[in-house]
Amino acid sequence: MMPLRITLLVLVLLMLSLPDATAQEQTHLHCGTLIDPGVSSEALSERTVIVENGEVVGVEEGFTLWEDHAVDLRSSYCLPGLIDLHTHLSNEFEQGGYIDRFRLMPTDMALQAARYAYITLMAGFTTVRDIGGSEGVDLSLRDAINRGDSAGPRMFVAGQSLAVTGGHADPTTGYREDVVGNAGVEHGVVNGEAAAREATRLAIKRGADQIKITATGGVLSLNADGTRPHFQEDEIAAIVRTAADHGLKVAAHAHGDEGVQRAIRAGVASIEHGTYMSDETMQLMIDNGVYLVPTITAGKSVADSSRIEGYYIPSVVEKAQEVGPEIQEMFARAYGRGVPIAFGTDAGVFRHGRNAVEFEYMVEAGMPPMEALYAATVSAADLLDQSEHLGSLEAGKIADIIAVPRDPLTDISVLSEVTFVMKEGVVYKRDGQPTADYLHAMQR
Ligand SMILES: [Zn+2]
Repeated sequence: MMPLRITLLVLVLLMLSLPDATAQEQTHLHCGTLIDPGVSSEALSERTVIVENGEVVGVEEGFTLWEDHAVDLRSSYCLPGLIDLHTHLSNEFEQGGYIDRFRLMPTDMALQAARYAYITLMAGFTTVRDIGGSEGVDLSLRDAINRGDSAGPRMFVAGQSLAVTGGHADPTTGYREDVVGNAGVEHGVVNGEAAAREATRLAIKRGADQIKITATGGVLSLNADGTRPHFQEDEIAAIVRTAADHGLKVAAHAHGDEGVQRAIRAGVASIEHGTYMSDETMQLMIDNGVYLVPTITAGKSVADSSRIEGYYIPSVVEKAQEVGPEIQEMFARAYGRGVPIAFGTDAGVFRHGRNAVEFEYMVEAGMPPMEALYAATVSAADLLDQSEHLGSLEAGKIADIIAVPRDPLTDISVLSEVTFVMKEGVVYKRDGQPTADYLHAMQR
């Protein structure tokens, strides 16, 4: 048997060596202020977020004595990584963008998309729901990011949006039939319940995480009308039921009231835009727990672009000026009535990386900053069915953490000045500068 004094000495040495052993794996983030809407409706001062193996293992009051592996964010405001529920990372619309699909190879689009994804991540959006991709670019990009071949937000993708013949997402709408032909189920164009089921199953076969439909006309497609209903209710219901068989939700792009109502009655999980919703429709959303994903930025930006001579063709200019400015007013009404709201921007319709501007529009329309942040964290994770992993900084959740230099509760615009980005424990941005951490990981 070991003499007592030696036993004690061994114990002391063991205890001394403990912090060093775990220090290799843990990172301690010393946050001057922590704003975590899922945990507290108040800002929390002086918190340490402890990260290990890409997960949050705990949040402690005060700053831990952990010099070597601490990240000094004592003068910053930390938040959970932001979630944008409505992006299109496959493309970015710019003047003359209508010829891109005749000019760019899918490989060109994919390489551009990699940059859009990187910019989005650096803007503090660590997760996106990408709803409406082209040529499978969104599916490949999601997988490349998950493998660590490319840096970007965690993506939940829809693949090609489903549309009716001549609808908003029919890729041949507005072009000469003798040149581009007509699109079928393989391009997401659906007529009737059987085709609706087939297109949904095809999207799932290709790897979609959710299904996107265009329930009404839209602004940027080459159609004179942007608001009338497109799908009939039985077609949407067939899509929703088929998606549900595989555990997938359906998101419906919709501007006009009738199209929104049909989509809600057919069982979709979210309405995107929702521009002309009546009070009755808003009540239907509340009763059915359907989220509104407002995309105010899209409305404002298309209205702005439409004032630039020659930016869009005349029919789109008209729609952009009519529909665009309405969204913020509708949002104010929806918020006032208590419609469930989850954050989404439609980035890609405007420049990627400017996603946080949406917060300013939400606050301008009367939503308190803490609630706007709740929409981009807790509610967004809920709509994604990811509440177990995302949306707040609690033990067991994925370590997606960002920081800004000023208090977003008093100046919401600071969310466009993200200085620190950690995704799944890897630091991509520090002191406002990109880090090379993920590049090192690529040299595996
Ligand atoms: Zn969109």
